[in-house]
Amino acid sequence: MNAVLLGSPGVGKGTCAKILSEKTGLPHISTGDMLRQAIREGTALGREAKSFVDAGKLVPDGLVTKMVQERLSQPDCKKGFLLDGYPRTVAQARDLEGFMAVGVVLNLSAPESVIVERLSGRRTCRGCSATYHVKNSPPKKEGVCDRCSGELYQRSDEKPEVVAERLKVYEKQTKPLVEFYRGKGILADINAGFGMPEISKVIGQCEDAIKAAVRRK
Ligand code: ADP
Repeated sequence: MNAVLLGSPGVGKGTCAKILSEKTGLPHISTGDMLRQAIREGTALGREAKSFVDAGKLVPDGLVTKMVQERLSQPDCKKGFLLDGYPRTVAQARDLEGFMAVGVVLNLSAPESVIVERLSGRRTCRGCSATYHVKNSPPKKEGVCDRCSGELYQRSDEKPEVVAERLKVYEKQTKPLVEFYRGKGILADINAGFGMPEISKVIGQCEDAIKAAVRRK
């Protein structure tokens, strides 16, 4: 099953994709994680992407599309994948259509107040990119990842002014994708407003949507 997760920054795409990946065995492909890794490693892609990511702007379509196309051609994506963070513009969605069929688009949404609260408290592991929230899902030991003991940090694009820019970019550039995919009949609306203790309610909706898409095939 080729699934795309769509939704505003902070809506919980990454958290849901990680859990769904463990449950389904499908690889979680996060363009944000891939770009941050490229930046850390100082690759040519990372050097080109850094200024955009730091400013909360979108990295140019061509760069991201090439990165995704390469990743999706790997053998582990043959049985399907959970694509998180791509496409983010209608141009990217058209590009994706050119090299890969999408079976279902999980459109996660939550009230804006919830989103801002989630983003401001988020911490990410430098080692395995697991995410935590200082209040809602803190690690057992402050600043240390439960899974790999890596160091937790606040992403540079999680400063309030950059968060505001990312939300603006989402509204303008990414939200049109909701109607784009609804028009194709593959959009599933997911209520992602449930907090961490109730995350299974979000996962359940995603699993149902994936099953329905498999039956449609
Ligand atoms: P979030 O969804 O929480 O905003 P991500 O980790 O998905 O964060 O992405 C972080 C940053 O990486 C984005 O603000 C953007 O600069 C860049 N990025 C990720 N995916 C894409 C994409 N598909 N197209 C352009 N830029 C992207």
